[in-house]
Amino acid sequence: MLFYQPRVDLRTGKIIGAEALMRWQHPERGLVQPDEFIPVAEKTGLIVPMGYWAIHQAGQDMRRFREAGFRFGSIGVNLSFRQFKDDFLAKTIRRIIDKNEIDPSRLEFELTETALFSDEAHVQSCLKELSALGIDFSLDDFGTGYSSFALLQKLPISTLKIDKSFVAGVNTSKDDEEIVRAIINLAHNLHKKVIAEGVENKAQLEFLIRHECDQVQGYFFSPPVPVEDFMRMLRGN
Ligand code: C2E
Ligand code: CA
Ligand code: CA
Repeated sequence: MLFYQPRVDLRTGKIIGAEALMRWQHPERGLVQPDEFIPVAEKTGLIVPMGYWAIHQAGQDMRRFREAGFRFGSIGVNLSFRQFKDDFLAKTIRRIIDKNEIDPSRLEFELTETALFSDEAHVQSCLKELSALGIDFSLDDFGTGYSSFALLQKLPISTLKIDKSFVAGVNTSKDDEEIVRAIINLAHNLHKKVIAEGVENKAQLEFLIRHECDQVQGYFFSPPVPVEDFMRMLRGN
């Protein structure tokens, strides 16, 4: 199933979107977290159909949001590097979008740097094709991989997501604070949005507001929750 973690706009203080995060409801083990099953799914290739399911499910949920009258930004869905090994990625995503009547401008894919580097030419053409539909891309866990500035310029990436390990160091580590500030500045200088992940306390939030980060996501506002709970949050937005 998909859980949703709200993303909050720091200028308005309102929920502007959410990240869709997979959970496995296991009959005996209960709710299994993605860190336990995503790596296995990537290894076996099962992440390919699971990834399509996630886009389909997000599309269904977006219809519910729309029908309930909620107007807000976008829903982020994670795309694994492994999904780019599927030659029909862009084509299949287009079909899922059509079938579920998804507004592509409300859909955002979160990629990691690993995905970008696996097969540059193929990834580039997939991203171009999908962004031509109006889909946005964000770069996840930014700062932890081999961030190539050349790729950042070349690819249609509109948002950088600051990895939560750096956000965790805000107020305890001067180095982490400098890195967070540097990523915010880099994003803005390249005319991109920047989202901080893993915001857990008020001090971190205040630091991010002070340094003009665009959006935050984290336990301080809410953990990822089932879709009904997320809709309840939208109602009280
Ligand atoms: P991610 O994409 O970096 O997702 C953010 C993770 O940070 C989520 O873990 C979220 O629950 C967690 N998080 C959010 N706020 C906080 C906070 O304030 N503090 C801390 N410590 N953690 C926070 P989750 O849901 O366990 O997902 C783990 C990873 O599994 C994700 O990392 C993503 O790489 C992968 N994943 C989850 N769903 C999918 C999916 O549908 N497709 C693919 N390919 N990967 C997925
Ligand atoms: Ca993500
Ligand atoms: Ca992340």
